[in-house]
Amino acid sequence: MENKTKLVLMSCCAPCSCGAIKQLADGKIADVDDFIVLFYNPNIYPDTEYQKRLAEQIKYCESLGVKYAVGDYDHNAWLSAVRGLEAEPERGLRCSKCFAHRFAFAREFALKNGYNAIASVFGVSRFKSQSQVDAAGEVACGEIPYIPVKWDENLRVQINRESNFYRQNYCGCEFSLRK
Ligand code: SF4
Repeated sequence: MENKTKLVLMSCCAPCSCGAIKQLADGKIADVDDFIVLFYNPNIYPDTEYQKRLAEQIKYCESLGVKYAVGDYDHNAWLSAVRGLEAEPERGLRCSKCFAHRFAFAREFALKNGYNAIASVFGVSRFKSQSQVDAAGEVACGEIPYIPVKWDENLRVQINRESNFYRQNYCGCEFSLRK
């Protein structure tokens, strides 16, 4: 009986995801037989910033010959999902809602496209809480197992050092824009 792990890797940008994608492409994550990078980030503001991050993500995936998919960019729907939480600090309740919103999309994507596991790089930034991301993933991915992979941070740093990725200086939404 076939029991292969087909993973959806949720990615927010190339600088955060490069190490994870390389590990997966090199077969370094045990038991993952197939994977796709899913870029679903309607949280990013403004549209010009979204396009920059998306272009960089696509460029990196194509450089490794890795499959990727792009979700729709409905920032208004995302704003509705976090309504009332605009003033929350980073790592607060707005971020939990934001992660849940994106993981819920990953669940739908996995069900529609024959994938049976979900992981993400949402927690790799030093501004993020990995345990908060994992808690959101455990709930929002529903019947699709969420895998809290600990990615190789040294590899990510090394690839970033050797690349000329476009690098943003804020998480993504208008509420995370730093002065
Ligand atoms: S700070 Fe980042 S994770 Fe938090 S709500 Fe904004 S875009 Fe989402």
